Amino acid sequence: MEGDGIRGDVNRVQVETRAPERDNIFHNYIKTDTVFADREILLPSHIPERILYRDEQINQLASILAIALKGEKPSNVLIFGKTGTGKTATVKYLGNEMGRLKGEGKADFIYLNCEFFDTPYSIIQHIGNLASENFDERIPFTGLSMQKLYSMLKERMDSEKRVVILVLDEIDKLVKKSGDDILYHLYEINEELAKSRISVIGISNDLNFTQYLDSRVRSRLGSEQLVFPPYNAEQLREILRQRAKSAFRESVIDDAVISLCAALAAQENGDARRALDLLRVSGELADRNREDRITPEHVSRARTKIEFDCIVEAVKSLPTQSKLILLSMILNKEAGNRKMTSGEAYNSYLEICKKVGMGALTQRRIADLISELDMLGLVSAEVKSYGRRGRTKEIDVRVPIIETRKALEGDEILDVLKECKPKFQTTLM
Ligand code: ADP
Ligand code: MG
Repeated sequence: MEGDGIRGDVNRVQVETRAPERDNIFHNYIKTDTVFADREILLPSHIPERILYRDEQINQLASILAIALKGEKPSNVLIFGKTGTGKTATVKYLGNEMGRLKGEGKADFIYLNCEFFDTPYSIIQHIGNLASENFDERIPFTGLSMQKLYSMLKERMDSEKRVVILVLDEIDKLVKKSGDDILYHLYEINEELAKSRISVIGISNDLNFTQYLDSRVRSRLGSEQLVFPPYNAEQLREILRQRAKSAFRESVIDDAVISLCAALAAQENGDARRALDLLRVSGELADRNREDRITPEHVSRARTKIEFDCIVEAVKSLPTQSKLILLSMILNKEAGNRKMTSGEAYNSYLEICKKVGMGALTQRRIADLISELDMLGLVSAEVKSYGRRGRTKEIDVRVPIIETRKALEGDEILDVLKECKPKFQTTLM
């Protein structure tokens, strides 16, 4: 009997160890349902430990800025390069390096993104407050005259000897919005400061940015210029590999997938941000499907998703009149008129203006707006010649219709059109 009892125990134990494999409440909690080890590493805001392929630019900038550590003013620098060429990452890296120095000298590194700091007031107020160690009173974020603001900045800057390196990232946006007065004033302030100096590093995504500058500002701001070229597929692959190592859990991703992301981004603009986005969104799609490996299929879906999100963003941020003309073209297309002339698009536009109660622009202005939509890639406009009967533009809409309509309908003014069905059949013949 005893022997039986033991056998019975053994049997029971075996049964118990087999069962939990299938269903155990704790499995729901142990199971890792993400391919990411640290997703943040793939976000544009992350500054990598090593900036690859930018030694030349890093050394050049460091040699210009080093003079600040002796208390002198470095030359102003203008940095050019398309989106995702590592401009922001490189400059922030140098700022961090400078911040890590102790006792070698004193230079304050101030980084401002002009997408958010887009008025002269906000920029001066910010620098003034950072230079306010010896003052109790903070400079208010609104309400002072510019003259008062400048004099407060001078007083605070000069309360001790200092060199400020002011980074104005996306400076092209600032100048397009508020003009270049701020830059001119910064130079004037420098002339009047007794102990301190401000030196400017401007970063622009727009290669033609200097054409927006007054010639005096241009010659002073651009005394040193650096260009960041796009990356090739090989370089993007290395940049991605470096990030993927710590961003993903082990054996989630293989080199073929990384190469694919690199190749796709290289084909477009050599944009490292786009490459990293592809990698991140591919991972997110794998997570969403509860798959534990990233495949080329995820990458190709990520690509479509990113492109689509970009279109929606571009459409949402269009000025109202451009939205109206785009909508008129979409309605034409929905009515079966695939290739409309600019005249047909204009007639539909006039009808929509009437419907929403907006004043209509001239056909000429609308032609300019159509050219802008063409440049954004939202429509394609081709000039067609009809022999002696003259020339006209043939327009085709290049955006996904349903989604674009949805994005357009988010605009209050266009809300009235929600129910609007295509009814421009007259233009079909
Ligand atoms: P830009 O300012 O030129 O638009 P960013 O500096 O923001 O480009 O770079 C975009 C993304 O690509 C960031 O996540 C950045 O860390 C990464 N990146 C760009 N260049 C490099 C590089 N050379 N090495 C490592 N990461 C890079
Ligand atoms: Mg940038």
